[in-house]
Amino acid sequence: MLRTVLQSIRDVIFPHLCLSCGKDTIPSEEILCLNCTYNLPISKQHLYKENRFTDRFWGRIEIKSAGAYIYYKKKGSTQKLLSKLKYQGYWQIGHELGIRYGRILKNAALFSGIDYIIPIPLHPSKLKKRGFNQSEVFAKGLSIEMDTPINTNWLIRTKETPTQTTKTRMERFNNVADAFHILSPKSLQGKHILLVDDVLTTGATLEAAGRMILAIPNTKLSMACIAMADNI
Ligand SMILES: [Zn+2]
Repeated sequence: MLRTVLQSIRDVIFPHLCLSCGKDTIPSEEILCLNCTYNLPISKQHLYKENRFTDRFWGRIEIKSAGAYIYYKKKGSTQKLLSKLKYQGYWQIGHELGIRYGRILKNAALFSGIDYIIPIPLHPSKLKKRGFNQSEVFAKGLSIEMDTPINTNWLIRTKETPTQTTKTRMERFNNVADAFHILSPKSLQGKHILLVDDVLTTGATLEAAGRMILAIPNTKLSMACIAMADNI
């Protein structure tokens, strides 16, 4: 009771705002208001072996299952939420969306039998600048709900890749093709890995890291992202 009263006083002094719409309508432990939660454009890709996510990799790399939690539109509210996560330090957004997607994936037949969740690593210099890896906080949320271990030591980034946004698809792939290294291939042998990134665009990053994993004998590869664009 006292805690609730103190919390209410605190909420008046420091209003707790929805990270998507900015309205002060939510309890302090939430990051999105009910309205924004209701309107999140959630994909149903976890139900389909072939979907818009797996289509992106067709003929490029063998994927067992893949899905993005939400769709975003350019300049839409979901894209703004993702940019808060990536560029304004709101790691809680990644964690919360990981928890929410994890609750879905733990009951999805296509995502059963995963041994390890591995987030796409940032180069150490970028990690230092940003303070956290947005793919890792999302992966941690997935790991908690799916009751599957996360590993952040085996896959490392050895090359800092310049920003991808102005490059063609081919340039992007060449840019990241040799950016990753696997430190302990034996630990991955025979395992089913869920490779996790923040946003799916061309897929060049996931493809490059995924190829390293599939080069290890008897591995299986699945993928999960927070979001992919609605119009591509
Ligand atoms: Zn809201």
